[in-house]
Amino acid sequence: MRLDALLARATGRLSRAGSPSPRLDAEVLLCYVMGVDRTWLYTWGDHAAPTFERARFEALVAARASGHPVAYLTGEREFWGLALATSPHTLIPRPDTETLVEALLELAQEGSGRLLDLGTGTGAIALAFASERPAWEILGVDRVTEAVALATANARRLGVANARFVVSDWFSALADARFSLIAANPPYIDSRDPHLSQGDVRFEPKSALVSAEAGLADLRHIIRSARAHLAPGGWLVLEHGHEQAAPVRALLHEAGYVDLASRRDLGGRERVSLGRRS
Ligand code: GLN
Repeated sequence: MRLDALLARATGRLSRAGSPSPRLDAEVLLCYVMGVDRTWLYTWGDHAAPTFERARFEALVAARASGHPVAYLTGEREFWGLALATSPHTLIPRPDTETLVEALLELAQEGSGRLLDLGTGTGAIALAFASERPAWEILGVDRVTEAVALATANARRLGVANARFVVSDWFSALADARFSLIAANPPYIDSRDPHLSQGDVRFEPKSALVSAEAGLADLRHIIRSARAHLAPGGWLVLEHGHEQAAPVRALLHEAGYVDLASRRDLGGRERVSLGRRS
């Protein structure tokens, strides 16, 4: 069977199985199996699919059709143009989180400083920032040991030398360290949210997604604790649910942050809020 026909058939199957991006899923899985990029597939679509690769591809398409995230099947997801290794121990990096990276880069236009990334997972935020700001010193923390190992491996693989990662439950291992920027994409989904039983999130660690108090418990804890770890004038930058901008701003205000602002994600929803330590 020709590669383009194989792709068309897999796309149909994934579409019927309810994937929101059947064609892209099929292309990414076929590229992964064949060790090629998508441009190659477009150029050589009229070639026959090799038997061994075809069998592996069909197995991956079956796994995808039963719901498994593509990023867990290939062990990789691109974020900020960086190829990051993923694992079921961490959240899969999402395009919306690039809004958070953009906000951080805006705040760090000159000179150098120290950035803390709380709940770093794959290291996505820390590594995107580190790759853009080589003069900065970046620390990523996660309470999950496997996440810290994964982020460390990602830094090495990408050749990012100015980021390191340690195990810490939010600020627990940080003593009195101070930072000029603190970033977090913490769990913020309400445990009753129907979104949790749909799509890729079903396979991601609940501990990275769900928070108590209608999703606000971890955001509240971080907002209250971060002040002591910010240098004067330093910024706290948080991702949150798009309906949480108002309560997050209220929490920031209550905790004494100033110059509160928010940023919109790719869908135009308020997804990131920031405040400065006066
Ligand atoms: N934005 C993600 C989602 O809706 C959740 C990320 C998070 O909880 N930090 O799936």
